[in-house]
Amino acid sequence: MMDHMVIRLGKYLRIIGYDAEWDMGVRTHDLIQRANATGRIFVTRNTHLAEQYPPVRDGIILSETDPALQFRTLVEKFGLDTQTDLFSRCIQCNVILDALADKSVAEALVHPNVYRRQKHFFRCPHCGTIFWHGSHVANTCRKLGIKHDEEADWQSDHEAMVEQLRLYQIKDKRILAAMGRIQRHRSEKP
Ligand SMILES: [Zn+2]
Repeated sequence: MMDHMVIRLGKYLRIIGYDAEWDMGVRTHDLIQRANATGRIFVTRNTHLAEQYPPVRDGIILSETDPALQFRTLVEKFGLDTQTDLFSRCIQCNVILDALADKSVAEALVHPNVYRRQKHFFRCPHCGTIFWHGSHVANTCRKLGIKHDEEADWQSDHEAMVEQLRLYQIKDKRILAAMGRIQRHRSEKP
């Protein structure tokens, strides 16, 4: 269970396939109760954790401010497996992705170039986002200190769209002007 101070770290945990929860709309008190009730480890940077009521049954206070360093600390402390379930979970929904046995299911949902290049697609059973081995995996793994041998990385269609918009920005400013509103909206997302 992540509190609001370590949500980026929570996303990194989902990347390596671990079940990580947070809820921005809930007070610390309730988050702790939820963590205790579900047997979750409460993760925070809040140094006043000991003063919280109810007391945290199982928790860790991180001192690092950089989420990538927080991630490495957790991996070391709990001996987390960064390989077995790498990129198996939807980062938005925290659920396990389904491998699409029939690639053509993804055809209408992704860019034709992506569809042509990729052999395997995965879908989040909750939000429906399609994932595949994209081009940004190596960067993520390098940042987190994760070993990753494959050339390709996972990428969602949303991220591919953002990349395409950046490409248009260089090629044709008129297209960009038309899409500016969309791009601003998208680029605001973390
Ligand atoms: Zn999802």
